[in-house]
Amino acid sequence: MAETKYNPYDNMLQVLKVSADKLELHRNDYEPLKFPEREMKVSIPVKMDNGDIQVFEGYRVQHSSTRGPCKGGIRYHPSVDEDDVKALAFAMTLKCAVVDLPYGGAKGAVKVDPAKLSKGELERLTRRYTAMIIPIIGPEKDIPAPDVNTNAEVMGWIMDTYSMLHGYAVPGVVTGKSLDIGGSLGRPEATGRGVSIITTEALNFFNMTGPQRIAVQGMGNVGSNTCKLLYALGHKIVAASDASGGLSDPKGLNIDNIAQYLGQHSQSLAGCKPDGARQISNAELLACDCDVLIPCALEGQLTEDNAEKVRAKLIVEGANGPTKVEADRIFQKRGIAVIPDILANAGGVVVSYFEWVQNIQNLMWDEDQVNSMLSKIMVRSFKQVMEIVTTKSVDFRTAAYMLAVSRLVKAKRVRGIFP
Ligand code: GLU
Repeated sequence: MAETKYNPYDNMLQVLKVSADKLELHRNDYEPLKFPEREMKVSIPVKMDNGDIQVFEGYRVQHSSTRGPCKGGIRYHPSVDEDDVKALAFAMTLKCAVVDLPYGGAKGAVKVDPAKLSKGELERLTRRYTAMIIPIIGPEKDIPAPDVNTNAEVMGWIMDTYSMLHGYAVPGVVTGKSLDIGGSLGRPEATGRGVSIITTEALNFFNMTGPQRIAVQGMGNVGSNTCKLLYALGHKIVAASDASGGLSDPKGLNIDNIAQYLGQHSQSLAGCKPDGARQISNAELLACDCDVLIPCALEGQLTEDNAEKVRAKLIVEGANGPTKVEADRIFQKRGIAVIPDILANAGGVVVSYFEWVQNIQNLMWDEDQVNSMLSKIMVRSFKQVMEIVTTKSVDFRTAAYMLAVSRLVKAKRVRGIFP
């Protein structure tokens, strides 16, 4: 029998129910949160370099605009489906509420393996996808950003397509752009910086003092910047991995050398063999001997099958949705704290917000200003979540959901239900 695909949306609805019960909410208060406001599915015909037409499937899901314009990234991945995008859009609504940004949540995706496309094909795909979702995006409606396999270059094509079809430059339609067209200083490292700030706060909270042994899964934008920043703070990165495999060294990997290797090998660890390091698989990384485990890859990585093997005392979710509900229960039983995605990786959208604020007011802030405002928001949000953890005796995920859901419910009550 074919294995049924893991549905991250169901995972989240379970946590929503627990949090709503803890908040003693009436069903009417949180029922609308279970449904995305708007879902768009588009076909994207692309003329390939060999002259063939190939049609790709794309989505944009707007989960909520209760607290402000919808906000969230665009992911290019061959196995992404509508349920994944729904879950990721819901996570954006919660994330923006946890850090108290005046945004709702959305997510977009195209079912494609971008590594199999030429640069020209990727650009045509992006421009056609943008044209297809134009009716629902815009600086006041819904603002995309980078996510898995998309970057500043892709954002530039989106900004240009949107601007050309409107007849004037509209930098505020996307965030995570290049600095040359209205991007913000500090945005490329922002998610990793946020993860490192939250990790530091969590280590203080648990009295885990001194340099820690940290394992990081994923060497994309989030994982590589998280490694760099925690390494610079004096921690030992004892294991790191990406889709091609991983490396471990109990004495600590030299992250400067690895960053250099990634820069020279299209951000892939394949073939990287530093002295003293051992090649490991992703499964070995998740179970390696470390103090802190930071999953920064895809969702559903920590499961009922591997949760018992995890040796870290603290898990910080750099990725969106890396822990399945069943694994979460095992971690709770084992006393392993999990700092949830909607708090831990919110640094990216916080600086996206700063970028958008600069764009719509034609401002330019310096990097210190961006980083210090980011730090303030991350630390404040961590403290607010921690306050719920301690006063309500709940785990970090439930507490973060409770904070987000209570803000959303308050906003909904003030706005009321139209008509
Ligand atoms: N894709 C990132 C996330 O999942 C950033 C979203 C944004 O900046 O809008 O949080």
